[in-house]
Amino acid sequence: MSCHRPESVAGATHAAPGLDHNPAALMQPRAPAATPQELKNGARVKSNNVAPQGVYLPNYNVLTPHMRSPDYVQMSTAAAITLGLMKGRMYRCECTRCLNLLLTYPEGCRANCAYCGLARHREAERDYADRNFIRVDWPAVPLDTTIDIVARDGAASPFHRMCISMITHPRSDADTVTVLKKWTDRIDPATIPVSILSNPTTMTREDVKRLHGLGADIFTVALDAATPEIFDRTRGKGVQSPHSWAKYWEILMDAREVFGREKFGAHIIVGMGETEHDVLALVQRLVDLGGHSHMFCFFPERGSLMDHLPATPRDQWRRVQLGRYLIDYRGVRVEQMSFDGEGRVTGFGIPQGELDDVIDTGIAFRTSGCPGKFREDVSACDRPYGDSPPSNIASFPFQPNRRDVAKIRRQLAPPRAKG
Ligand code: SF4
Repeated sequence: MSCHRPESVAGATHAAPGLDHNPAALMQPRAPAATPQELKNGARVKSNNVAPQGVYLPNYNVLTPHMRSPDYVQMSTAAAITLGLMKGRMYRCECTRCLNLLLTYPEGCRANCAYCGLARHREAERDYADRNFIRVDWPAVPLDTTIDIVARDGAASPFHRMCISMITHPRSDADTVTVLKKWTDRIDPATIPVSILSNPTTMTREDVKRLHGLGADIFTVALDAATPEIFDRTRGKGVQSPHSWAKYWEILMDAREVFGREKFGAHIIVGMGETEHDVLALVQRLVDLGGHSHMFCFFPERGSLMDHLPATPRDQWRRVQLGRYLIDYRGVRVEQMSFDGEGRVTGFGIPQGELDDVIDTGIAFRTSGCPGKFREDVSACDRPYGDSPPSNIASFPFQPNRRDVAKIRRQLAPPRAKG
């Protein structure tokens, strides 16, 4: 078992021929199909009501057990391998440093985000605990088993951070509190800090304060879309989903006040139809507020409403990845950079020698996310191959070597002229 799927079974995984960026007109999600009433809200799992027996590895040939947070959580295949709950090897990686705990319910996430494998429109096709998410299966594990293993390993744990990933569900806020309390009862948050990947749609400022008071270290908001229009198209009314840009920003600003500088951030997916300038202007806004951006390359998820669309071309991704690193960690401002008429980066605003040094260190091209224990600009959240195939890595889950950097340099091309 490997932590990535064979590339032959993936959907549309390549960039559109002849394009060096994904333009807005191209990146239109499919409309969600109607779900028959009898398959809504996890009805199949609830009516079968099969009792879970320990760890559940997604399996389409058995009845999915009835599992619920806070007793159960799901985790990435990489985390399950790192915990020793699954056998497998990860290409060029020993382990992952971040333990993502995803809340789970038979009803699943009630949102319908167009790029997401967990989205509600899939409820007729696949039970929630069996859905692929960010390219891999997510085993369901009793929370107590997970905490037992990490507590047993103590300071020798490979994990640098734990992250509770909320979903859109009426129980999500209360169960996040329970998971956090149970974790911090047994594991010192100074040894393994906790991040919250929030679900602003169901949250209030009081929820943000409660999580901070219980010892959460970093609070993140998955904006995912770089502009309000793309947000609405991919996560809001455009796909019959409940999220709004304004509510996400409201909770992000609450997190800024409650958690403070360097302790909040936002996720952004690159290549859903925004311009490079749109993304980097958002990165600058977050830095000016005192936060960070965590950035991912759009890579179509099988079964999602965007699985027919092209992956983000590497040229676009590398330009934005480098620009984001310069703004987030090197004090460069977006106003120093130059852009062409289509919003593509044509200059990074620093002397070529300095730029070469940054490129050669390779850190700008690593997976971004909340920091681990190595250094501030190296993320603990290094779950591999979530945004690319291993044969053409977008976010490097390890330190790129000289050959990797040479490939990055070839990909980091200036904008192509229109054909
Ligand atoms: S809220 Fe999160 S988990 Fe739910 S569909 Fe949207 S991206 Fe997926």
